[in-house]
Amino acid sequence: MDERFLADEMLGRLARYLRILGYDTEYVREEDDDAVRARAEREHRTLLTRDRALARRTAGSALLRSPHLQEQLAELRTQIPGLVLAPRFDRCTLCNGELAELPASAARPPGAARAGPVYECRRCGHRYWEGSHTRQIRGFLLHLGPS
Ligand SMILES: [Zn+2]
Repeated sequence: MDERFLADEMLGRLARYLRILGYDTEYVREEDDDAVRARAEREHRTLLTRDRALARRTAGSALLRSPHLQEQLAELRTQIPGLVLAPRFDRCTLCNGELAELPASAARPPGAARAGPVYECRRCGHRYWEGSHTRQIRGFLLHLGPS
């Protein structure tokens, strides 16, 4: 996953989905446009924004017109033809940290299925496992057509 993204504050849901797809996606916290642009450049990230003026001033950014996640993903795929819409579940949706599989000997978190791997975020410690949530995401992405 070569492409790295910086999503502006109007694109929080899209940022979480891009993390599910395995893309290194940080979320804008800087208030000032110049700081946002400087960060995108410093970290070699494609800025994703719904702000037309900001997109115009930022080389290599992607302007997204739709407020809806499904359409945003379609728009992004038009602008970045190599974008792969297959979920990888190897990044934390909360903080963008990378996930590592817990050893089989580790205690399983309450609520986790009895079988199957459990993953832990190396940055914030949040845990993930296969369940209804991941099934829902796979179904949603299926609607977008083949990746
Ligand atoms: Zn995390």
